Amino acid sequence: MDYTAILAEIADECRPLARSGRVADYIAPLAAVGLGPFGMALRTVEGEEFSVGDAAVPFSIQSIAKVLGLAHAMELVGDDIWSRVGREPSGTPFNSLVQLETERGIPRNPMINAGALVVVDATLAAAPSNGDHLLAFVRRAADDETLGYDLAVAEAERETAHGNRALAHLLKAYGVLQGDPDAVIDAYCRMCSLSMSCAELCRAFTFLARAGLSPSGARVVSPRHAKRINAVMLTCGVYDEAGDFAYRVGLPAKSGVGGGIVAVLPGVFVATVWSPGLGPKGNSLAGTMALELLTTKTGASIF
Ligand code: GLU
Repeated sequence: MDYTAILAEIADECRPLARSGRVADYIAPLAAVGLGPFGMALRTVEGEEFSVGDAAVPFSIQSIAKVLGLAHAMELVGDDIWSRVGREPSGTPFNSLVQLETERGIPRNPMINAGALVVVDATLAAAPSNGDHLLAFVRRAADDETLGYDLAVAEAERETAHGNRALAHLLKAYGVLQGDPDAVIDAYCRMCSLSMSCAELCRAFTFLARAGLSPSGARVVSPRHAKRINAVMLTCGVYDEAGDFAYRVGLPAKSGVGGGIVAVLPGVFVATVWSPGLGPKGNSLAGTMALELLTTKTGASIF
């Protein structure tokens, strides 16, 4: 299928909305991006690539990286990861501490900050101490050795990570986080600062559409893990808007406060979109609309 005309139509319909919403402003590098950009890319499992608008502009993928962190951890520690983090939607904001108190320190899922911190902790304990194993994993998934962090974003994240530090220490108090909370925060802030364009993000997430295989056909995760990660994205991937998003878009997806969203149709394609204006739940307004239009116009969704 040639998606060129569909993406062009979607971009025309979504561009006005790219001027609405609020840009994340808890750190200066994100606030500086401003409203207006809109980019979208789609990559089929056969390797055809389509894009429109600002699809080649790198942006801060933020919480989208939690999926890559989870995939890395599942490969390193397998199902043991689920002894310390759940798989249920939280229904509370991504950075909330509240449920930790009522659920003995077990985060609801790995897509909220508390869960991602536990995942990072498990990874640090399991990986050899030399080198950046998450970055190596991401580059392998994308078949792209040039991918890296935005160090200004990582530094700003570290300077403002008071809520995340509180989460890490509370998790430590419950014994759910086992390593050094400061080392976990450091690695978590770096993970959030991964920078990619929509086109690069499509390649980095190809393994979730190809039953675990990267664009070049290398094994990134097992087919079983790919299925499970997609399931977690569907139920927990777009903050406390997962129900409405599944209703409107009908695809497993993960969003980030940088305004990016990645959506997967297993066996068919990965679609990514970036537009920094966020709605009240933290998801890109134009990005959500673009993905809704994609599945409406093509009739392609998991349902
Ligand atoms: N760096 C952000 C935080 O930890 C990630 C937010 C997001 O994209 O959900 O608060």
